[in-house]
Amino acid sequence: MDDFDLEDISDERLTEMFSLDECQDCGACARSCPSTRHGGIDPHKLVQGMLEEGNEENVWDCLLCYICEDVCPVDISIALLITHLRYRSALEGGAPSRFKKGAASFLKEGRGFPAGPRTAKSRQDLGLPEMGDGDRAMRELGKIVSRTGFSHD
Ligand code: SF4
Ligand code: SF4
Repeated sequence: MDDFDLEDISDERLTEMFSLDECQDCGACARSCPSTRHGGIDPHKLVQGMLEEGNEENVWDCLLCYICEDVCPVDISIALLITHLRYRSALEGGAPSRFKKGAASFLKEGRGFPAGPRTAKSRQDLGLPEMGDGDRAMRELGKIVSRTGFSHD
């Protein structure tokens, strides 16, 4: 697969980039997908949709567990394709508010969700050390944000 070209994320380009025409239409990805099982995204339909009139699956329903990639007999990188489609959706303002909140929390606290007393208790139960103040991690995160231009706007 070629490098990700941020300038061209059309269906045609992604179809070529991820070699979707190699899909065997076997459905193994959907049969293994936890999201499909619970009425969420169907990776088989997503790939077929990309090859036909266009994808109608909700890419934000994916759990990014990568199981579909593990079972695909022709090694189509479905989860990675979904991250590209999410990127495109986000550029078009389609990111759900829960994801925007997660991004805002990540930029502010270095975590995708607020860590309160319940998190501390869970860590204790798992025998993990107490959370530090995270200053160093936040400094490093700040550098990554600055160098990559990532923001939640
Ligand atoms: S990565 Fe997404 S599409 Fe693939 S199996 Fe997991 S939830 Fe399903
Ligand atoms: S597992 Fe791979 S080959 Fe089979 S339907 Fe899914 S994408 Fe196509």
